[in-house]
Amino acid sequence: MTLIRTRFAPSPTGYLHLGSARTALFNWAFARHQGGEFKLRIEDTDLDRSRGEYEEAVLEGMRWLGLDWDGEVIRQSERRERHLAATRELLASGHAYRCNCSRESVEAGKQRDLAAGGPGTYDGHCRDLDLGPDCGEHTVRLRLPEEGLIGWEDAVFGPSGQDASQMGDAIIQRSDGTPLYNLAVVVDDIDMEITHVIRGADHQANCVLQLALYDALGAERPIMAHVPLIVDEQGKKLSKRRNNVSVQQFREEGYLQEALDNWIVRLGWSQGDNEFFSLNDLKHSFSLEGIGRSPAGADPAKLEWLNQHYIKELDSDDLFQRVYPHLEREAGRPVKDTPALRRLLDLLRERSTTLVQMATLARWQLREDLDYDEKAVKKHLKPAALPILESVLEKAQSIPEWKEDSLSQLFDDVSADHDDLKLGKIAQPVRVAVTGGPNSPGIFETLEVIGQARSLHRLEEAIALVQKRIQSAKVD
Ligand code: GLU
Repeated sequence: MTLIRTRFAPSPTGYLHLGSARTALFNWAFARHQGGEFKLRIEDTDLDRSRGEYEEAVLEGMRWLGLDWDGEVIRQSERRERHLAATRELLASGHAYRCNCSRESVEAGKQRDLAAGGPGTYDGHCRDLDLGPDCGEHTVRLRLPEEGLIGWEDAVFGPSGQDASQMGDAIIQRSDGTPLYNLAVVVDDIDMEITHVIRGADHQANCVLQLALYDALGAERPIMAHVPLIVDEQGKKLSKRRNNVSVQQFREEGYLQEALDNWIVRLGWSQGDNEFFSLNDLKHSFSLEGIGRSPAGADPAKLEWLNQHYIKELDSDDLFQRVYPHLEREAGRPVKDTPALRRLLDLLRERSTTLVQMATLARWQLREDLDYDEKAVKKHLKPAALPILESVLEKAQSIPEWKEDSLSQLFDDVSADHDDLKLGKIAQPVRVAVTGGPNSPGIFETLEVIGQARSLHRLEEAIALVQKRIQSAKVD
């Protein structure tokens, strides 16, 4: 039985964006599920647009997504001799011919064809002239069948193809001697023994010519599977300008690799009603039948939902490690791994859709100085809060234990001293006092995490702040 081989063939002209990441993931999952090989080929023949740093970024993105490839990375630019040899072979077998038509005469021929109601293709002037290498400046064209369907059974779109009469003989080598993209792709795929080409539907248009090249080179055609476009919430094709599309950017925004893989694989692929897929699940179950034909909508809310799901599933060490760079950024310095911080991270799982958000929510624990949220100060650190904060501070100094039970008792006592004030009326001023803002996990847990000494200090500072506000209100 032939070994199944897929490949991912990115052009290193930008970061690894969502569409390419999905192509990589589908190829990876299919090969792994079939017990085959997944190859990586960098299509770097466009020297003006290809850059080494982008190649590195693509590889790094793939590593981060957990998509390992088999064998060495192949660079298309290093295979030029093979591409040229294939052209020579096609010339020798008569499947290709030299064409020394000028650009102008080709254009004029196309216009004539259009005017006569034809498809506007090259008129085949040199097709039967049997020009030799000394025919002057020339291109090399592939001799296509004159009529009949060049078709294929696409693994996603079913019967596909184009009638040969609608196509002109295509250039496969430019007049400066460089091979054209479609030739390079086919020669590489043949040499790499690729059995399944899975790629974006934007390559459907190239497919006919590529298949004709397989035929002309006497090679077996691979199975072709074209994957529908990814569109945004407005149904528009994702664009680098409008949408956040690079894998690196998602990572920086605090999305987990597991969540991104899961989100990406569901862009145009499904399996029953299942929503959760790990790479391991895909290894065991991915199949091309699950790919749909309609454009796949990328819904950011779904990514957030998945991210939260996976954040909740991480064990404490893993979570700490992954959130660490974000904590460090938020703190502005290295951060100590303490039981209190671990506890806080655990409490924040429920409230965080990204690791960045988690780090932001932990800010009051990471930094000594609080940033007071102005609105929360206005609302909760009013003159009326002063006696409450003072009571809390006084009792907190002599509390038997800085633990939830004693803290809860403390709040009950403060409430009793202030005409059975509702606990929320105590908790909110205290929360703003010790965290700077109106949102945090439960107040007792929050106080425990902050610790007694720091909590007392922050209560004192908040009391001073309220006093200052009262003073300045008097002056105004
Ligand atoms: N290099 C092409 C791209 O980045 C892929 C070509 C292919 O998969 O056949 O879109």
